[in-house]
Amino acid sequence: MENNRYYGIDVGGTSVKIGLFQGQTLLEKWSVPTDTSADGANILPDIIRSLPGPAAGAALAVPGAVLPDGTVNRCVNLGWGVCRPTDEFTARTGIPCRVLNDANAAALAEQRLGGGQGYESILLLTLGTGVGSGIVLDGRLLVGARGTAGELGHLCLDPQDAAAACTCGHKGCLEQYASATGICRLAAQAGIPGLSCKQIMDGAAGGDARLEAVVDTACDALGRGIASACAIIDPEAVVLGGGVAQAGEYLRQKVQDAFERYAFHACLGTRILLATLGGDAGICGAALYAMDGGR
Ligand SMILES: [Zn+2]
Repeated sequence: MENNRYYGIDVGGTSVKIGLFQGQTLLEKWSVPTDTSADGANILPDIIRSLPGPAAGAALAVPGAVLPDGTVNRCVNLGWGVCRPTDEFTARTGIPCRVLNDANAAALAEQRLGGGQGYESILLLTLGTGVGSGIVLDGRLLVGARGTAGELGHLCLDPQDAAAACTCGHKGCLEQYASATGICRLAAQAGIPGLSCKQIMDGAAGGDARLEAVVDTACDALGRGIASACAIIDPEAVVLGGGVAQAGEYLRQKVQDAFERYAFHACLGTRILLATLGGDAGICGAALYAMDGGR
């Protein structure tokens, strides 16, 4: 029975979501807290203790760059340095294991099963605390030589913007305008501090002109970033996910308008869509990757 069973494991900074899949069907899901003490040494043992039994394969979706050979190049949020978590996972469980970046997992899931279903090439943007992104091109997950293909969050839009200092050390990265954190920063900068991103989005959609100007700045940055990405990879569709995208059609239309302001004319047919898998995108993408490596 385990021949067709796979674990999709989404390792986040506060909790690990785990799904048991039979083929593409999610049978059950659960989560365990992420113990970041001791450089994250307990994370894998805690995951493994929670698994109900054997499986044909597993994959870990992690918040960091993953090289094509499965080496993880640091996950600051987990306390992991350069490491090979799949080796430990397989040694302890006997289950073959792969690893991929969490935004890439979400991209694979949304393309196969979610908002990008029916398209062979998509760009996914996850607008959360940061901006994650992943690319599926001609049905294959794009990883890149160093595992950083589709790192749109760090696309530099304004290197002179000292107020938009990024965690990566540069200034003016897309993430500093279009993440939930970035949108709150823009609001504070406009003299409206102390609001959550949801309050800002709701207020803007409800007709507050000052908040709408903040959201317009964020969407303008997104439109520019997406237009640049489309000039390079020319996907059929761009899928917007993450907490910020819960603003739904209000956000989607603004991003579409901004995209059309900046896009190369031949790219204008690119569809801008909303993600549909929500918080399950990571476990679904990981399970799909366990099955076929994203090809
Ligand atoms: Zn950056």
